[in-house]
Amino acid sequence: MQFSQTHLSVTGLKKSVLCRVSSKGKQKKVYLTFNDGPNQQITPWVAEKLKEAGGVKATFFCVGENAEKHPELLNLLKEEGHELANHSQGHESGWATSQKSYFRSFLECENTLGKTSHFRPPYGRITRNQAKALATRTQIVLWDVESGDYDTSRSGKQCFHSLINQTQPGSIVQFRDSERSAPRLIYALPEYLKWLKENGYTPSLIPKDTSKNNNQKNLV
Ligand SMILES: [Zn+2]
Repeated sequence: MQFSQTHLSVTGLKKSVLCRVSSKGKQKKVYLTFNDGPNQQITPWVAEKLKEAGGVKATFFCVGENAEKHPELLNLLKEEGHELANHSQGHESGWATSQKSYFRSFLECENTLGKTSHFRPPYGRITRNQAKALATRTQIVLWDVESGDYDTSRSGKQCFHSLINQTQPGSIVQFRDSERSAPRLIYALPEYLKWLKENGYTPSLIPKDTSKNNNQKNLV
């Protein structure tokens, strides 16, 4: 399972990665994230659903190669107040990629998107050394709620139920704006947005750790 591997891989890295935002105060916040886009078929649909739900803002962890092909989708997301974040240039697994290539991919994606504040390792697979080095210049963001939308053996309804069973204040929720995930996302996302509203949750953008933005340390 992708989820448990992620947690094994980051054992001892609690300070370098963010899986959930510590919740303070009375407001119940959640943080919606979409990986692997932008995608011509599904990204505009996601943006529309977020707008219909009252202008919900989300973080889109874009793959640089997809972003290069669709600057118009990047503009759409930016215009609607969403955050563009780094999901590497070519969606490499950190476990199967040399340190140098991994960092190069991170930097290439950043060139495509412009300076970003958050990075999500593809597949949640990142080595301890990669995470330590990257954490000096970006906030590495994993998740605590997995929609399971990538899993073709599941239904949209199953994804929705697993979302609502896992959600708690401060949760970082993982979806994918990809064609593979679309059949489940199309059911689960609108239902989940409705459920969040009914249960007093406010979807928000992941806070930025501004201390990272000034760090220009060379990676490669
Ligand atoms: Zn991904």
